Amino acid sequence: TVVTRFAPSPTGFLHIGGARTALFNWLYARGRGGKFQLRIEDTDRARSTPEATQAILDGLEWLGLDHDGPVISQFARHERHAEVAQEMLAAGHAYKCFATQEEIQAFRDAAKAEGRSTLFLSPWRDAAEADHPAGQPYVVRLKAPRDGETVIEDAVQGRVTVKNAQLDDMVLLRSDGTPTYMLAVVVDDHDMGVTHAIRGDDHLNNAARQAQIYHAMGWAEPVWAHIPLIHGPDGKKLSKRHGALGVMEYAQMGYPPAAMRNYLARLGWSHGDDELFTDAQATDWFDLSGIGKSPARLDMKKLENVAGWHIARMADDEIVSEVERFLALTQHEPLSQSQKDGLSDAMFCLKERAKSLPDLIEKAEFVLASRPIQPDEKAAKALDPVSRGILRELTAQLQNVSWTRETLETTLNAAADAHEVKFGKLAGPLRAALAGRSVTPSVFDMMLVIGRDETIARLTDAAS
Ligand code: GLU
Repeated sequence: TVVTRFAPSPTGFLHIGGARTALFNWLYARGRGGKFQLRIEDTDRARSTPEATQAILDGLEWLGLDHDGPVISQFARHERHAEVAQEMLAAGHAYKCFATQEEIQAFRDAAKAEGRSTLFLSPWRDAAEADHPAGQPYVVRLKAPRDGETVIEDAVQGRVTVKNAQLDDMVLLRSDGTPTYMLAVVVDDHDMGVTHAIRGDDHLNNAARQAQIYHAMGWAEPVWAHIPLIHGPDGKKLSKRHGALGVMEYAQMGYPPAAMRNYLARLGWSHGDDELFTDAQATDWFDLSGIGKSPARLDMKKLENVAGWHIARMADDEIVSEVERFLALTQHEPLSQSQKDGLSDAMFCLKERAKSLPDLIEKAEFVLASRPIQPDEKAAKALDPVSRGILRELTAQLQNVSWTRETLETTLNAAADAHEVKFGKLAGPLRAALAGRSVTPSVFDMMLVIGRDETIARLTDAAS
């Protein structure tokens, strides 16, 4: 079975690039009945914080990327890493190196002066055990092949070869006995049964080194897939000036997670011309062959379109719960039961054109607000004396008509005709009266949702 993993270092929030990496691993596993695991690479004790781990978990949870099995802490496995280093020592695939920092520096200086490669060649590589100095600190180094090349068959980048002469005997265990990152990743991926390592192409160079450890242990390498990083809209490396980098910033902008998954999937992966798709389609379609070799670019306009499509097709109760989550996340008051009911009743006229949840909430003001409706500044301007007069007349006319779209249209059009104004001229004051806003769903939709009594009450308030 397929096993993938996301292996973030807990040094900050969940970056949009990390979220995309996690998504690709999740999609790949979910589409193949496989497992998607989460490993926190917290070996760097100085830079790793529990807050960052929590932020990553929160980000993944918001995005809906559920993992299988427990969250694995890399640091907690350090004894296992050391054990593998010992196995390699015993098998002669690694050796104890007693060279001091000064000796290594002296080696490099001399090599440089003589125009040779400054790659450190340890004199301890072939030393006999009997020659080891007693009680001296040492590191454990991989006895890497010196001839030939290490080949990475990458599912995205193709074949990548590195001359072994360019790779030094990497350190596996430091002199304090702690494992290095390179060793930890390989041991963890092996023990977790990872079959596919999908990650950023900033790790491509590490792959050759990690492959050497796999070879030394006689373990099968995973399928490698190094994906290009995400760039800003200008094609430059993504940075703060390009806008939101943290996935939770997108949550706070009110893009639903389903839309975010769709959008992130298209950052670097494609399936024909398909831009808008469901999770089911994405898991069905996702394959490593669809990942491009050049960096994808962020595109907020596209995200809005994707979000609009998803909001329009989400179930009403699903949108209501996303709205509740969004309000909690942005420190707003929770919805009352009647606001929730109002939102559900109004959903048919809210979800078609909303580009984000705040956009939808803004248009939902007519069901979220209660009397007396407080018009905002722009809406208040529409309530001039003439308009208020028309509203007053309308309150009387609306008492007896049947409460259907057709009759309401006839009644309001007749009122506009009687006052020789275009219907649009009447719509402004009606929006102001019903919603306190100038951008709202159609006045007919609003009137139908809130009903006759509430409509008349609001028009009466605004007319007085
Ligand atoms: N911890 C690494 C990172 O956050 C990922 C290593 C890997 O995926 O192998 O970039």
